[in-house]
Amino acid sequence: EVYRTEEIQMARLKLPILAEEQQIMEIINENSVIILAGETGSGKTTQVPQFLYEAGYALNRMIAITEPRRVAAISMSKRVGEEMNLSSDEVSYLIRFEGNVTEKTKLKFMTDGVLLKEIQSDFMLTKYSVVILDEAHERSVYTDILIGFLSRIVPLRMKRNDPLKLIIMSATLRLEDFTENRRLFKNTPPVIKVEARQYPVTIHFNKRTQPNYLREVYRKTVKIHTTLPEGGILIFVTGQQEVKTLVRKLQRSFPLGKAKYSSVQSVEKDSDEEKDEELGDVLRKKKRQKKLKLVENVDMDDFSIPGDHEDPDVEEEDLEDDDENDEVVVKKGQPLWVLPLYSLLPSYKQANVFKKPPEGCRLCVVSTNVAETSLTIPDIKYVVDTGKTKVKLYDKVTGVSSYFVNWTSKASADQRAGRAGRTGPGHCYRLYSSAVFNDTFEKFSVPEIKEKPVDDLYLQLKCMGIDKVVNFPFPTVPDLVQLKTAESRLETLGALENSKVTPLGRAISKFPVLPRFGKMLALSHQQNLLPYTICMVAALSMQEVLLETPIGHVDPQGLKDVRQKWRAIRRQWAGVGNSLMLGDPMVLLKAVGAAEFANSEGRLERFCDDNGLRHKALVEIRKLRIQLTNEIKMNLPETDVGVDPKLKPPTDIQAKLLRQILLSGMGDQVAKKVMMEELKEDEDKAKYKYAYRANNMEEPVFLHQGSVLKGSLPEFVIYQEIYETNKMYMRGVTVIEPE
Ligand code: ADP
Ligand code: MG
Repeated sequence: EVYRTEEIQMARLKLPILAEEQQIMEIINENSVIILAGETGSGKTTQVPQFLYEAGYALNRMIAITEPRRVAAISMSKRVGEEMNLSSDEVSYLIRFEGNVTEKTKLKFMTDGVLLKEIQSDFMLTKYSVVILDEAHERSVYTDILIGFLSRIVPLRMKRNDPLKLIIMSATLRLEDFTENRRLFKNTPPVIKVEARQYPVTIHFNKRTQPNYLREVYRKTVKIHTTLPEGGILIFVTGQQEVKTLVRKLQRSFPLGKAKYSSVQSVEKDSDEEKDEELGDVLRKKKRQKKLKLVENVDMDDFSIPGDHEDPDVEEEDLEDDDENDEVVVKKGQPLWVLPLYSLLPSYKQANVFKKPPEGCRLCVVSTNVAETSLTIPDIKYVVDTGKTKVKLYDKVTGVSSYFVNWTSKASADQRAGRAGRTGPGHCYRLYSSAVFNDTFEKFSVPEIKEKPVDDLYLQLKCMGIDKVVNFPFPTVPDLVQLKTAESRLETLGALENSKVTPLGRAISKFPVLPRFGKMLALSHQQNLLPYTICMVAALSMQEVLLETPIGHVDPQGLKDVRQKWRAIRRQWAGVGNSLMLGDPMVLLKAVGAAEFANSEGRLERFCDDNGLRHKALVEIRKLRIQLTNEIKMNLPETDVGVDPKLKPPTDIQAKLLRQILLSGMGDQVAKKVMMEELKEDEDKAKYKYAYRANNMEEPVFLHQGSVLKGSLPEFVIYQEIYETNKMYMRGVTVIEPE
């Protein structure tokens, strides 16, 4: 029996899915695989687990709900617990390194990667009576693989007379990939479609597609806020840096009256703003006067509706305002409550978007595509869509991964627009023309599995006894090239031999890190370097450990000072000799060592703030270190390793060995210094005398300002990653000597 508060009950009754509970449960009871499709916000994630619970599915076993995003796993478990009046002991979550699952857990929200790991140790998933794969349309690699495995596990459980239900939940997108894939399901599973109460959303295309979408998104938001009636604004940009920049800009433009962000949020500044702030005061005042005037003149007439023809007038209006720093400051009028949302944002800050804004403020959420389907933010009336998305593109031939800002798909753009019609009729402003949308946008986004290296997956599948990986029931099969390169890289690493997993390969696959890192761990066992390698691998496996800019509001000079200080600390951490040659990984190693010590004295957070480290990353590195250490102890009981808060820095010889170990895992990511003229590059790069030539890449790559090896220009380096911004940069650089 579930006791819900009246408020919750009222909110639930508004959800269309509630009226269909009985029908949905009948179909679930009678079938073992069900596809449940419904628009975002219809109540799938929050309600279906409750239906199952109330129907008794959690009496003896757990109900698993997987999410591709950690944000969703955490916030949905909280929400459902709240709705059901149950504690987090019973409605729990588990993501990598973090969770609150107990013996009493009934509903377990988890990331898809976590459930895949569980399959490795308990193939039949005996702990569960139902598995719900949520957001299947997102086509994350792990959800795809889970569908493949579960398509086999479900019939096996049936044979054992111990049935397991599989519910695939998805937005109403491209369901044929699941339903019409005979290798997955011999018989098409029943598809339940839930109608959402979706109000009409008027789409306004820009007449012209402005190249500078960040400037355009700011302008449009200012227009909406200053001229259109009440209603929340949701803005889609591509990454956390863009979110932060825009949030800052909007917060400055529309200061809060009495309300304060106070500790609710703090946003980092980025380098563009640094430049802004360096402008003289007088200049700035002048600019602001000019801009204030601009705001008074704006009207909303330049938004066209679909099918409208191009209008040359618009160009003139845009030409008039050619100022890059087109900021305005509005002291009067309605304050704007601007909140950031992106996946690396700490979860307590993410939760702010669900709260009511302070009295009299208009809500404005600046988000990455996190808000596209997994989180439904209440009371959004206006969506501003840049139409862009950041994809981490992986070059199947060169092995280089890079971030690209690209047009999103039609399906995604429509999802984004839909966010405006949840509570009433809304508007979506698309900052691109209908022609671009029609001609340039792909219909659907490419499934992630086609855009990532599949090495770890390949090895995992092999270790689970799947000999012909190409025959695995993937919803979308990866390219043959991808599978081939994965196989050959794993052979190079020594994880596979003649297509069979080697003992080294088995050792590698046990570690919850990429195979190349697994190999480093396996190797350093022989050289007594384990504690250092563990530390280094844990740090290299984490995103964004070293911060570029401080969190919180710092004045421009202060910002500069802080940056300088951090760089100095990093140079000092890098040391000299072999230590310096180990380069950026050495900085990480020292950072983790020092953080461990600070942690043992209970002052980790402060230490991170002072030294430019992302606190959450350090906490996770710590968890990963412990996990890796335990894994090693389990397999090699004779080794004596631990997470020592007083780990001494590696000696010069150890640093040299660590470089060799790095090379053993990263041997395919080597770059050689070349004179620029050898590269015959275009002029704008002429100011650089040297560049690097990596693998078989055409374009030159560079050492980034943030690398401690920036000044030394070594002949040969290995890098962790190449990424592209205005140029190609190497991340995580180490010096090697050619044989
Ligand atoms: P779906 O999974 O079909 O997209 P959800 O179950 O996520 O739909 O959302 C149903 C409703 O619950 C939405 O209107 C959403 O705003 C609301 N909701 C979800 N999480 C929260 C929360 N943490 N606080 C308040 N409302 C929430
Ligand atoms: Mg959902």
